[in-house]
Amino acid sequence: MKRYPNYINGEWVDSPQALVNLNPSDTRDQIGEFAEATPEQVTLAVQAALKAAPEWAQSTPQERFNVLDAAGSEILARKEELGRLLSREEGKTLAEGMGEVARAGQIFKFFAGEALRLAGEHLDSVRPGVEVDIRREPLGVVALITPWNFPIAIPAWKIAPALAFGNAVVFKPAEQAPASAWMLAEILSRCGLPAGAFNMVMGRGSRVGQTLVEQKGISGISFTGSFQIGRRIARMCAERLVRVQLEMGGKNPLVVLDDAPLEQAVEIAVNGAFFSAGERCTASSRIIVTRGIYQRFKQALIERMKKLRVGDALDPETDIGPVIDEAQMNKVLHYIELGRQEGATLAAGGKRLELDKPGYYLEPTLFTETHNGMRINREEIFGPVATLIPVEDYQEALNVANDTEYGLSAGICTAFLEAAHHFRRHVRAGLAMVNLPTAGVDYHVPFGGTKGSSFGTREQGRYAVEFYTTVKTCYTRW
Ligand code: ADP
Repeated sequence: MKRYPNYINGEWVDSPQALVNLNPSDTRDQIGEFAEATPEQVTLAVQAALKAAPEWAQSTPQERFNVLDAAGSEILARKEELGRLLSREEGKTLAEGMGEVARAGQIFKFFAGEALRLAGEHLDSVRPGVEVDIRREPLGVVALITPWNFPIAIPAWKIAPALAFGNAVVFKPAEQAPASAWMLAEILSRCGLPAGAFNMVMGRGSRVGQTLVEQKGISGISFTGSFQIGRRIARMCAERLVRVQLEMGGKNPLVVLDDAPLEQAVEIAVNGAFFSAGERCTASSRIIVTRGIYQRFKQALIERMKKLRVGDALDPETDIGPVIDEAQMNKVLHYIELGRQEGATLAAGGKRLELDKPGYYLEPTLFTETHNGMRINREEIFGPVATLIPVEDYQEALNVANDTEYGLSAGICTAFLEAAHHFRRHVRAGLAMVNLPTAGVDYHVPFGGTKGSSFGTREQGRYAVEFYTTVKTCYTRW
């Protein structure tokens, strides 16, 4: 089996231990052994980044553009191959895998341009003969920690702006899906970065992730993952006054009003709730439906769900691939059992599937006649499970949508302009979708949420600069 080393100070470095990466569609298929960085190697990576940071901070915008543009071009050119690998290790369909790779390439292209456009401000001082320049400067060394569900896009949307704005990076991908991240690191290793400006240490969060966040000299940590770990990292960052950016879970509502076009609303719900096996922090997990359309919507959704094909992620006929691993499978099954115990009606799915190969296949699952107080409507499940919550009218729908500890994405299906407008203004979420799935976002605009979903400044688009730079105000007397 091929062994994949860490990338530290411009060199590929193996470790005594390694983790095997399995294909969740067929667990007989072992993708490779990925080195698990030792604590000493994590420290070496941070030291290398600290050493390289001043040089990379002094690089010209053209040099940064060239690195990011080259990475973006190669990722786009290898979209099919990398998309296949991504689907093989993560379990999302091939179309989704290639789409994600394309997105990663586009993100690098976008931030290549942003490196050129990084601007400051120039003002006259209130004092005569004095001018003020406001400059944006890199933070220094940033640690980037990413989850398994978008194994190339999330690394891209952290690494690209970090490098574009002159920071040195130590990157820790998720242990469940490191192959896409490894390919990205391999591409970056050939794009003209000075040694140490980009480093990757792989392995488990409890070991390598924890060791990384404890390192001295890191100026910022950008993390995407669970609420529990995010909060723990934030605590540590508060203690040390390290800048932190967290993207965590969601319990995203999709409101369907009486006047919504039925077929379109069903497609939006299916896409948001079940595509990528529901393993998206923007997945629609609570579908809030007004009485007048409830029965018709429920029937149409159940009918549509029957047509969804669960299977091997690499099979072009598949609509929904496996969940990522046994632990995730057990977690989702636990919530399905909990939903039953809470008195929700299991209207579709609910079972693990045994196909012709060993994998983590789960039926898309729908609970109906639920209420918002149930744990299945309060806690993130992160699998192909959605609930229907009946409500009387729009106002109740909005109240239920907002009655959650999370606030990442929220959607509404309606032809009623006033409701759409009101919802956009009053829903408490970082993303508001009108007649669109709660999941599926552009690469050139900010991404993030409110309440328990996110902490710190926004990621992506032009807003990414807020996290990856610090502001210097310069006064000059002429
Ligand atoms: P998920 O439930 O999506 O796996 P986690 O929060 O467990 O979410 O993991 C997200 C990322 O954080 C992964 O790269 C994981 O290895 C890392 N991680 C997990 N535990 C820690 C920790 N204690 N310190 C730092 N990183 C961690």
